[in-house]
Amino acid sequence: MKICNLCEGQSKKSLNGKPHEYLVEIGELRIFKGQKPRRFKEQDYQCQTCQAKITYSTDSNNLAWTLWRG
Ligand SMILES: [Zn+2]
Repeated sequence: MKICNLCEGQSKKSLNGKPHEYLVEIGELRIFKGQKPRRFKEQDYQCQTCQAKITYSTDSNNLAWTLWRG
């Protein structure tokens, strides 16, 4: 299925970016308790428009919003 424009834009947002209006949280917030500064958290979202899944992560080594392509 085609990724919608909102999700394409979401994948380019920074850590401070908010999930777009059709993204709903799926699953639990995952908190990784490593040694500082290795602590981070992740949350999965799914788009109600295009069904794309996006994972938000505060792990500074990765992009904040990862779009999973089928
Ligand atoms: Zn979408």
